Amino acid sequence: MSDNIKGKVVIITGASSGIGEATAKLLASKGAKIVLGARRTDKLETIANEIKAAGGEAIYQELDVTVPAENEAIVKLAKDTYGKLDVIFLNAGLMPSSPISALKTNEWEQMVDVNVKGVLNGVAAVMPTFAEQKSGYVIATSSVAGLKAYPGGAVYCGTKWFVRSFMEVLRMESAMEGTNIRTATIYPAAINTELLNTISDKGSSEAFQALYDQYGISADRIAAVVEFAVSLPEDTTVNEFTVGPANQP
Ligand code: NDP
Repeated sequence: MSDNIKGKVVIITGASSGIGEATAKLLASKGAKIVLGARRTDKLETIANEIKAAGGEAIYQELDVTVPAENEAIVKLAKDTYGKLDVIFLNAGLMPSSPISALKTNEWEQMVDVNVKGVLNGVAAVMPTFAEQKSGYVIATSSVAGLKAYPGGAVYCGTKWFVRSFMEVLRMESAMEGTNIRTATIYPAAINTELLNTISDKGSSEAFQALYDQYGISADRIAAVVEFAVSLPEDTTVNEFTVGPANQP
C-alpha cells in the first residue's frame, strides 16, 4: 500500500526533531512531498537537504504553531508549491511536566498554547483547502498521557486529552458532513527524542529520564505508524494508534 504515499503533499509541524523529523524522512523516502514546519529553521534546512540528497522532495518554512497566520502561510506555501495538500501531521508539542503545587504557570500556558491552540490553528488553516478539495487527512500526535493521567502531568495530560476529543469530533463531523476529511490520532508512549529537554522541574526531569533510559524506543517507530496511516486507501482510516515500547508497563 505504500504506493499510495507517492506524490502526496504532507505538512509536518514540529518537523525539526524527534517524531516529526523521523516521519518527514520516512514519508519522503516513499515519495511524499514534504513541507517541514517548526521554529528552528537551521534544523529544518539540514533535514530538507538530507531528504533531497537521498532523492526525496522537501521544502520548509519557519512555523510557530501558536500564531494562526503562520499556520495559514505554510498551507499556502504547500499549495503554491505543489498545487494541493493531502495530509497535515499536527505533531508540534512540548512537555514541561511538574507537580501542580510547583505553580509553573508560564509552562502551563506554553503547553496550552502549543499542544492545544497549535492543533486548533493547524486545523483552522487546512479546513478551507480540504473543503475545497473535498478531501484531506488530519493526523495528530496525542500521547498515552491523553489516555491515562499521572502525577506531574496535570496540564500535559489535559492538553493531550484535548487532542483526543477534538480529533474524535472532527472525525464524526467530517463523516456527517461528507467532507472526506479523514483523521488519525497517535498515542505514543516513551519515544527517545528531545521532548524531555522541555522539563525544568528537577524531580520530573529525573523521573522521566529514568523511565526513558529504561524503556525509550526510536522515533522511527512512530514514523512507521504514520507511514501506515498515510498508505491506507482513501476510503479507510484507523482512527487511533497506541504505540510504544513493548516492555513498558
Ligand atoms: P521533540 O522535542 O523532539 O519535538 C518537538 C517538536 O515540536 C520540535 O520539532 C519543536 O520544534 C516543535 N515545536 C515546539 N514548539 C513549537 C511551536 N511553538 N511551533 C512549532 N513547532 C514547535 O519531541 P517529540 O518528537 O517527542 O514530540 C513530538 C510530539 O510527540 C509532541 O506533540 C509530543 O507531545 C508527542 N509525544 C512524544 C512522546 C515521547 O515520548 N517523545 C510521547 C507521546 C507524545 P522547534 O523547537 O524547532 O519549534
